[in-house]
Amino acid sequence: MAKATVKDIEGIEYLCTGCGACAIACPTGALMMDRDAEGFDQPAIDNEKCIACSVCIKCCQVDNEPNENEPIQVAGCYASDPVARAAGSSGGVFGLLADTVQKQGGVVFGAVYDAATRSVVHRSSEEVDLARILRSKYAQSDARSCYRDVEAALKFGRRVLFCGTPCQIAGLSLYLGDMRDNLLAVDFFCHGVPSPGMFSDYVRLKESRRGVPVTDVTFREKEHGWREQHMRWYYADGAVEEEASLDNCQYFFFLHNYSLRRSCYDCDLYRRHLSDVTLADYWLIDEENDDDLGTSLVLANTRKGEAALASLGGAVTEVPVKGFDMSVYRHGYAVSKREEFFSVLADAGVEAVCGDYFEKEHARMARMNRLRNAGGGHSVPPSAGLGD
Ligand SMILES: Cc1cc2nc3c(=O)[nH]c(=O)nc-3n(C[C@H](O)[C@H](O)[C@H](O)COP(=O)(O)OP(=O)(O)OC[C@H]3O[C@@H](n4cnc5c(N)ncnc54)[C@H](O)[C@@H]3O)c2cc1C
Repeated sequence: MAKATVKDIEGIEYLCTGCGACAIACPTGALMMDRDAEGFDQPAIDNEKCIACSVCIKCCQVDNEPNENEPIQVAGCYASDPVARAAGSSGGVFGLLADTVQKQGGVVFGAVYDAATRSVVHRSSEEVDLARILRSKYAQSDARSCYRDVEAALKFGRRVLFCGTPCQIAGLSLYLGDMRDNLLAVDFFCHGVPSPGMFSDYVRLKESRRGVPVTDVTFREKEHGWREQHMRWYYADGAVEEEASLDNCQYFFFLHNYSLRRSCYDCDLYRRHLSDVTLADYWLIDEENDDDLGTSLVLANTRKGEAALASLGGAVTEVPVKGFDMSVYRHGYAVSKREEFFSVLADAGVEAVCGDYFEKEHARMARMNRLRNAGGGHSVPPSAGLGD
């Protein structure tokens, strides 16, 4: 595919991943990220302030494809400590890497649910407990506020672990330039990121139905098994609401590719291994090794990543990975329903999208899945994929 280029950052349009590196790098504050009609953040320039220095273009992954790595090591594993394993979405390997970096005096950055803004944002282990950074959150995270903090910590000679989507790793890498020796960059096989605007509206809807604020939300509770995940909603009055993830509209529209960012559908960054370590759910684990408690597939993409994994020693238990083939993994592909979904959202709002529309689509998908006899889970081989 021909490499896309943009003359100015606003021309990037649907190619923009929303990593926000351009906005943070802008020396005059001329570049802001504005919410578009689908609820995603897009760059917008204030021409009064712009000095045409092109720093934004230099940080843009669309114009500057970051270097690609070939994985050095592929392992299937999980945290040997059952509590650490249960705390992660898959095998809890991220938590182990994060603990190690913290014990070395380093700082960890990852995504948390922020009740004040009803959104997913990146925070450091110095701002919030590490426990809040663990586990997958299925809305696009705003990582912008962290890039400068990562830079500052690295300048102080501290070790930094930053975990994010492959596009956030690409944006951060371009923003930091050569300053990456002490950075352990971790990403994951990314299915794509759902609309953060829709997510905030949905949280508001939950709050208005119950009459109290939501204080936290989790997407991957594993008490019923790794494959039968549950979401949990925590309210200010102490109530906790639990529902099967696949029966929840936010999760459903994510998993079935209705609500993803436009750039996600053609994204190949997760195949390019830009990070030091890539994590994934090891959905293709052999039946005999699958205890349904969660197992990670882990790729070491660089020598630094390999050393970080080696340093975990007996804290991880390995399971065999036979004949790993990256080509069977793929992220969310475009569905014709996407346009319909966003037009219902724009015209009738989240109440309709998560009401009648969700019920109709949920029933339709259940019918199709019965016919195809396909299971749940994401980024499984195309033969088991969930279609349009
Ligand atoms: C949006 C999204 C899509 C994913 N798609 C797939 C997939 O298709 N196939 C697959 O095998 N695995 C996918 N994963 C990864 C998988 O869910 C696990 O996160 C991964 O296996 C690591 O598990 P763990 O138990 O080691 O760590 P965990 O404790 O689960 O750590 C997860 C890490 O991801 C970070 N994170 C969570 N949510 C976000 C977010 N919205 N944006 C940026 N960073 C975030 C957390 O801060 C934490 O650092 C996806 C994750 C996310 C967030």
